[in-house]
Amino acid sequence: MTDRRHDLIVIGAGPGGYVAAIRAAQLGLDVACVEKEPALGGTCLRIGCIPSKALLEASERFAEAKHGLDAFGIRLSGVELDLPRMLKRKDDTVRSLTAGVAGLFKKNRIARHSGTGSLLASGRVRVVSADGVAELSAEHVILATGSKVAPLRGVELDGDRIGTSTEALSYPEVPRHLVVIGAGFIGLELGSVWQRLGAKVTVLEYLPRILPGMDSEIAAEARKILARQGLEIRTGARVLGARRDGDAVVVSVEGSDPIVCDRVLLAVGRVPNTDGLGLEAVGIALDERGRIPVGDGWVTSVPGIYAIGDVIAGPMLAHKASEEGVACVERIVTGYGHVNYGAIPGVCYTHPEIASVGKSEDELIEARVLYKKGSFPFMANGRAKALGSVDGRVKILAHAETDRVLGVHIIGPRAGELIAEATVAMEFGASAEDLARTCHAHPTLAEATKEAALAVDGRALHT
Ligand code: NAD
Repeated sequence: MTDRRHDLIVIGAGPGGYVAAIRAAQLGLDVACVEKEPALGGTCLRIGCIPSKALLEASERFAEAKHGLDAFGIRLSGVELDLPRMLKRKDDTVRSLTAGVAGLFKKNRIARHSGTGSLLASGRVRVVSADGVAELSAEHVILATGSKVAPLRGVELDGDRIGTSTEALSYPEVPRHLVVIGAGFIGLELGSVWQRLGAKVTVLEYLPRILPGMDSEIAAEARKILARQGLEIRTGARVLGARRDGDAVVVSVEGSDPIVCDRVLLAVGRVPNTDGLGLEAVGIALDERGRIPVGDGWVTSVPGIYAIGDVIAGPMLAHKASEEGVACVERIVTGYGHVNYGAIPGVCYTHPEIASVGKSEDELIEARVLYKKGSFPFMANGRAKALGSVDGRVKILAHAETDRVLGVHIIGPRAGELIAEATVAMEFGASAEDLARTCHAHPTLAEATKEAALAVDGRALHT
């Protein structure tokens, strides 16, 4: 049966889709959102960013209580892990946030349709659920179906011992030996969680470096720091396969002995989620990497159908999807809407955190851009000393002639928060001099950014 007609149907209620739906409702559109999972919020809220951050926080506190407080003059004994409670706290965090999105939908009068959505034709969407099949229609449809785990040949996922980040957010016990395939965001974050909780963790990375795409100097520093914490990181390691052997898993690596472990986490990237979306029905073809091509205004090859977030090109980041959702809707309603792809921050929530915005030094070298570089270590920052977290630095890259900030890369305490200042600076086209002349409260970690900006001109005060 055909439901009533809406102005906009959004397929997918992740950070791209649900934010687009809210913005559209704010702008007065009659909006429907189709989501197949019972909880709203997508991968990010349910099985991604939020639960992983809850575990990162909890495991960091555990590790600190166990090994890190002596230096502060605090002696603790009998520190024990209550894993079920830690996992419950994570689940509670997820539940409250996904319920919050449901509340926002109600408040904004967004019609929520539970079921799997697919395109029937331009402006027509079918929703299949346990209750049957419904048909919706609208002038505009936004595809925001996100991404799924990229498979790796030879690694048969069994939803248990050979799993993805989803399983790694809920292991019922601390693995004795966890092998992580891929030293990207997921591998390093979840590898850190289980290493802090007591597992031996081996990270196997195919490339000669970790965190591809991030500034290589910062990534090399990250590798040293993480190795010192106890993560075993092997680069240049080509995984040929992983198979169950009773309760164990045997991982084959080219050119070396097989590794016998008790769990494997596959984290070699994600791929766009377009299965069953009905793209053929409307004549939308995917690009060579399985993404939906879009033009100006995030319009696909079919007018009235738009795509945002992980299903299109660009970094697979929640905040990038949200920005696109807002801008796409604003374009539809007001004719204006823009995303500055040059100023999208990225954060890896290890300890210390690793954050970046703009161009890496590698990219500037490759593009033959003339640049100046200023760097400041947290070792020389008063607040970092007081926090007892002095690893890392702020690195600022500015244009050699104009001094415009081209990229900022931070590894250090709360780098994920510090990068916001750099992002605002870049959004406003700031120069390193602008950052250097901005008064920063003392003593704060952000002073390291000011000092790095001063260092661009060779005049840092505290090194
Ligand atoms: P990723 O792209 O960040 O890292 C995957 C890693 O796997 C890379 O280092 C790659 O070189 C390596 N790899 C690929 N094939 C391999 C092989 N055969 N053997 C060994 N290593 C191999 O992907 P991810 O960590 O799976 O994360 C998926 C997506 O989710 C990414 O786009 C990431 O940006 C996003 N994410 C973001 C955050 C965050 O913002 N904090 C956290 C988690 C995930």
